[in-house]
Amino acid sequence: MNYHFSSRVPKSDVDPVGNILKIAGKPGIISFAGGLPAPELFPVDQITQATDQVLKEKGKDALQYGSSQGIQELRDVIVDRVKIEGINTDADHVMVATGSQQTLDLTGKIFLDRGDTVIVEKPTYLCAVDVFKSYGAHFVGVDMDEDGMKMDMLEKALIENPSTKLIYTIPNFQNPTGRTMTLSRREKLVELAEKYDVMVLEDNPYGAVRFAGKNLPSIKSLDKSGHVIYMGTFSKILAPGMRLGWIVTDTKLLNKYTMMKQSADLHTDNLSQYIVAKYFEMFNIDEHIQSICHLYQKREQLMMSAIHKYFPSNVKCSQPEGGMFIWVEVPGIEDTQALFDDCIKNNVAFVPGEPFYGDEGTPGTFRLNYSNMHEDQIEEGIKRLGAAIQESLTK
Ligand code: PMP
Repeated sequence: MNYHFSSRVPKSDVDPVGNILKIAGKPGIISFAGGLPAPELFPVDQITQATDQVLKEKGKDALQYGSSQGIQELRDVIVDRVKIEGINTDADHVMVATGSQQTLDLTGKIFLDRGDTVIVEKPTYLCAVDVFKSYGAHFVGVDMDEDGMKMDMLEKALIENPSTKLIYTIPNFQNPTGRTMTLSRREKLVELAEKYDVMVLEDNPYGAVRFAGKNLPSIKSLDKSGHVIYMGTFSKILAPGMRLGWIVTDTKLLNKYTMMKQSADLHTDNLSQYIVAKYFEMFNIDEHIQSICHLYQKREQLMMSAIHKYFPSNVKCSQPEGGMFIWVEVPGIEDTQALFDDCIKNNVAFVPGEPFYGDEGTPGTFRLNYSNMHEDQIEEGIKRLGAAIQESLTK
């Protein structure tokens, strides 16, 4: 059978990251590979109570078709939440999406024609790379340091690629590096977006999960000219399985998103939307977020001290103040896939750095997740990883 696929479909049947996660998920492996929140903190009882209440009060609405923009009650909740990010908006400027992953997909659909340039951080979120690739994006990676994307390099990229359609950034506790963009860089980014008339897609799934340092204003809150599209999600503060994300932008652009969403899935699951809106009415989300931050901080500190104990002293690590990831660079190691294979033999796993790059990557890099690993396994996992690194370096 010859399927005559569209050009959007990947040529290869191999899913390298899927394979890594499959191997890493085998029983007995201490896996720092996935990017999952801690399931023991999902508020199952509270969600049960909220669901009962929704079905009693609004069962018919919750089970009926709904609006592509999302239910008013949830958009009101989102308006309130984004105030913490310094964004003053109203429910008319908010659309509910089926996870923030859908916002990435709709953004590709709305802005990208084959060959269009998307500027990304180097490295960046690998599923964003996959989405934009499916719309034919040409990627230009901009180097980062501990303060986020380097603005002089961004300006250079904008000058060299005058038809850039999008700058994609994850300013808080970035996936995969855990790094946060400083306020002065956020201000510069807004200035550059305006100067070169390019849209910025600000993806902020982790901002609320801050366990150290001070909150920074979102890039969107600094934007006076409408160049920033802001996207968020309930996945990291409540439950990713509910598939609820959101977008905040101006009316004209929001209409395009709503129209494109209509043809993608008509609307986001109404029942999930009503349940989350009810959850916010009945319970205190800030207390819940505090417990997430508390646990992730504990796990991050355990991982960091184990890294200092067991990794060679020249290994470089990011120092996240929140979120779920630590980024590691091991000088002297070229092939982290080979290191991954060695680690699997020792029953420990991570994600090699390569898939996180839109263009050429930095060798010897990998991502570690700490949110999803129980405290009593972290030290042992890092010890095994340290031994595998030492062995690779002496090969
Ligand atoms: N953006 C980033 C940076 C992410 O890390 C993730 C999930 N890992 C997403 C978007 C998608 O999240 P969701 O669809 O669950 O909101």
